[in-house]
Amino acid sequence: TNWDVIVIGAGMAGLSAAQQLRAAGKDVLVLEKSRGVGGRMATRRTDAGQWDHGAQYFTARSATFRRQIALWLRANVVSRWHEPIYAWDGTTLQASSPQQRFVGKPTMNAPLRAMAAQLVIELSAQVSCISRSCGAWSVHSESKTWQAPELVLAIPAPQVARLLPATHPLQAATAQVTMQPCWAVMISSKHAIHLPFAGLFVNETNVNDDVLSWIALDSSKAGRSGQHWVLHASVAWSLAHLDDTPDMVIDALCQAFSRLLKQWGQSKPSWQAATAHRWLYARGNAEAPITQDASDGLAIAGDWLAGGRVEGAYLSGVAAADILLTHSAN
Ligand code: NAD
Repeated sequence: TNWDVIVIGAGMAGLSAAQQLRAAGKDVLVLEKSRGVGGRMATRRTDAGQWDHGAQYFTARSATFRRQIALWLRANVVSRWHEPIYAWDGTTLQASSPQQRFVGKPTMNAPLRAMAAQLVIELSAQVSCISRSCGAWSVHSESKTWQAPELVLAIPAPQVARLLPATHPLQAATAQVTMQPCWAVMISSKHAIHLPFAGLFVNETNVNDDVLSWIALDSSKAGRSGQHWVLHASVAWSLAHLDDTPDMVIDALCQAFSRLLKQWGQSKPSWQAATAHRWLYARGNAEAPITQDASDGLAIAGDWLAGGRVEGAYLSGVAAADILLTHSAN
């Protein structure tokens, strides 16, 4: 098959770029190394329940992203998350600012799956090398090669830096962007835990306990049920415990949650069905804007180019598509 554009990465940035390019009439192939789409817009489903273990919710500040969210709401793949979000500074529980927050319904990856349904995607396709010759990009995995005149890299900055040839104008700038890890733990409690919030920012710098940064009752989101909780470790703790085993991480985060519950006068819950996931590139943001002109048909996209949020990922995908469309029109 002859493709106009290859997009590497089927997270929010890649699918957003692919959707725009497809709408402009391009033949687009999306390559994704894992077995499903969504990237950090992720949901873990097991017999014991489901958890959004990556992005917890998203907000919208731009008209462009609001328009997309309106379409997702109409398609019933996104819902508002009305539940109260609080912050904990070590002494008080305080309601967080009244933001409109959104989640995928019934799973965080639902809007990504809806986008993917309109696209050609090859899963379990891990790209190891890219090269350009005779006006086309060649994209190689261990067993296959694909070719297209245009290419979008929609993967974390360190992976972009590794794929780009050392002489590429974007290589140095992307190599400078660091991304931080985040250990996530998914647990269920046997009995309901009664707390005033469904999501909690733990400001670990004020708290004498730097393990957790976020706690959420995942099952409080639309289309879910049960007592399923997601715990996110702080960046500092995740960095210091990068090579811990999942069991060690589950222990440490559950104990940290129990310590908080004790401070709030709650008894120790009995946990069941615990799993842990390590996000190696959970968050990051380019310190200086990275400008690109796509003169060689290559564009990059990712939340890390645009503030480290879901909306940034979406908008960066739109921007990457625009650059390529402008470039091929000239
Ligand atoms: P948002 O608009 O809800 O976040 C900003 C608002 O939430 C602030 O106005 C504030 O009221 C509240 N808030 C955020 N952090 C807080 C804190 N530590 N303490 C008290 N209040 C806080 O959401 P957004 O701007 O779309 O950002 C999404 C959220 O996701 C951010 O909070 C960001 O830190 C988080 N995030 C986490 C990871 C991770 O790996 N754990 C990765 C990317 C983003």
